[in-house]
Amino acid sequence: MSLAKRVFELQQVEFSIQGHIKQLEEMDLRIRHNDQFEQAEASLKTAESERAGIEKQYKELDAEAEAPRAQIRQITDKLYSGKIKNPKELVSYEQEAGLLKASLAKKDDVLLDMMEKLESGKVGIKKLKEVYKTALGAWESEKTELKVLVDEVKKELSELEKKRGELLSSIDRDTLAAYEGLKGRKGQVVVKVEQGRCLGCRVALSVNELQRARGNAIVTCGNCGRILYLS
Ligand SMILES: [Zn+2]
Repeated sequence: MSLAKRVFELQQVEFSIQGHIKQLEEMDLRIRHNDQFEQAEASLKTAESERAGIEKQYKELDAEAEAPRAQIRQITDKLYSGKIKNPKELVSYEQEAGLLKASLAKKDDVLLDMMEKLESGKVGIKKLKEVYKTALGAWESEKTELKVLVDEVKKELSELEKKRGELLSSIDRDTLAAYEGLKGRKGQVVVKVEQGRCLGCRVALSVNELQRARGNAIVTCGNCGRILYLS
């Protein structure tokens, strides 16, 4: 293998290593986070806490309504006991009962409204739990698949690292320094020559450059400075 080819191979291996590392990072992220599951979980929690809030209010209001309910029962008992003979007293009790009933009716309307909300909340939570379960199941199976893939990619990566090490030890220090020095550039820094042109900048190479590139020395493009590789 010519020196230029080895440097070219080194570049390809390093690109592949970068790609594998990126792939591993992406997979790791997908193992740790799942938008659909997290959204489902948040929606369920919100609905549950909203329902718990209404339930608390309901209980408080229902407890408040207990006093007028008891008073109404007492008055009604008195009225039907037949013990009260005085018509004025009877009227007064009836009026009191009427006022208590009117105020209780308002509370009962609110309680009924809350009861409806609690019922629809229950239905909503049931649906959200289904969504949550489905999202969790999908994520779990995705994770299982991803873990298998991670192992494969890691294996490939270690092979690539081994290959990189071999290539590095087969390339002299000056050539490596030239290669490393070009690395700040975007994309390929070792480029193929095709039909007499540098594939890095598409400029036609001189006869001299082409001749030198055919040899075993490292030749850079006179126009863009990239290392040329003539296959
Ligand atoms: Zn060039």
